[in-house]
Amino acid sequence: MARHETDVVIAGAGLAGLAAAVTLHRAGVPCAVLEASDDVGGRVRTDVVDGFRLDRGFQVLNPAYPAIRRLVDVEALRLGRFWRAVRVAGDDRVALLGNPIDTPKAVRDIVARRYFSAKDLAALGALSARVAAGPVHGILDRDDRTTLDELRRAGLSERAVETVLRPFLSGVFLESGLTTSSRFFQLVWRSFLRSAPSLPALGMGELPRQLARSLPAVRKNTPVEAVRPGVVRTATGDTWTARAVVVATDGSTAARLAGVAEPKWNSGTTWYFAPPRSPLREPVIVIDARGGPVASTSVVSEVCPTYAPPGAALVSASALTTLPVTDVRRALGRMYRTDAARWPLVGRYEIARGLPAMPPPHDIRREVRLGDGLYVCGDHRDTSSLQGALASGRRAARAVLADLGS
Ligand SMILES: Cc1cc2nc3c(=O)[nH]c(=O)nc-3n(C[C@H](O)[C@H](O)[C@H](O)COP(=O)(O)OP(=O)(O)OC[C@H]3O[C@@H](n4cnc5c(N)ncnc54)[C@H](O)[C@@H]3O)c2cc1C
Repeated sequence: MARHETDVVIAGAGLAGLAAAVTLHRAGVPCAVLEASDDVGGRVRTDVVDGFRLDRGFQVLNPAYPAIRRLVDVEALRLGRFWRAVRVAGDDRVALLGNPIDTPKAVRDIVARRYFSAKDLAALGALSARVAAGPVHGILDRDDRTTLDELRRAGLSERAVETVLRPFLSGVFLESGLTTSSRFFQLVWRSFLRSAPSLPALGMGELPRQLARSLPAVRKNTPVEAVRPGVVRTATGDTWTARAVVVATDGSTAARLAGVAEPKWNSGTTWYFAPPRSPLREPVIVIDARGGPVASTSVVSEVCPTYAPPGAALVSASALTTLPVTDVRRALGRMYRTDAARWPLVGRYEIARGLPAMPPPHDIRREVRLGDGLYVCGDHRDTSSLQGALASGRRAARAVLADLGS
């Protein structure tokens, strides 16, 4: 039961805690990062299983996120990029829809107007132009409503919403009602317009690992049990005294430790399969025009060959619920137009606390200062995303720096 003293203690080494620590470290302020689990990254970790890189829940990194550009050496991540397009699996064929500038192959299916009428294309174009142009404040200052309302107001037809936008966005939000804040939808859409979703060559876990490498140390297997102004107690009975304490845990633990409101959670499950050969030689996300049960799938080894051993392929499949693996294989067989019945399962991740729900009105800059030298950060303070987590960590660190006069 040791006693320690430092300037700042940060509880949690997910992206928010790491962003806070990196910002303080760059400003020359000593801080200790205490992490409950056996490694850094929180919800952004990658396991290596039989030579396959399995992200703990399929997710993508968008290099256009401002906080990524500020805090991360993107070049060093050696990103593989998805096409800015989706394959839409219908009953008889799989259409390709997307940005024709970098996916010229998409033009044929766009012109065929199978899912988007001319009016839908005009509505989506106008929405995209409005969201892409101007400063982010233009989005934040607009009225917030559900994403479904926003799409309807933009003039998109029922068919376009039900066959493409709902299936695609439910994989992004981990909820299919499209009840997520339209502000968040517009921020995400803006980032898709500005840059292609990507995967780091060594897996998503390389993102937090890169941040952690720039820090002197992170104390792993060190759960924080209680927090009071200026004092942190760990589960091992150690006590840390500090001028500032930053609670950078997930929202539910932050509610327990720091008394902030607990978020509701959207959940999801990801399966990984190793088919004998790649079922689709394209780096693209595939969605189901029928809306499930698999929300989205992709051959991740087409995006980053490093996700599979040489010559092998890795397919991810994500759903909002858990499903029998036979149902997942059946859905994949339909989506890739192949027999997936015997595809070997390499891993499965069920994530109950995936994303804090963001119903409107969603405050994108929640207070990080709790008073008495206590601060809080995490995606539940901004948006449920890599950007939100990193930005909240940076905001908390800047508040600490301002209050300590550093
Ligand atoms: C399946 C899935 C898909 C996603 N897809 C995307 C995507 O495509 N794009 C995107 O931008 N975002 C995506 N996200 C969201 C993004 O991953 C999260 O918003 C972000 O990683 C949250 O980071 P955080 O630091 O706020 O929280 P966390 O990652 O939860 O980190 C909290 C840390 O605190 C630690 N901790 C908890 N309790 C304690 C304690 N008592 N003491 C010390 N440490 C503690 C935890 O172990 C953890 O390391 C996805 C998330 C999931 C789960």
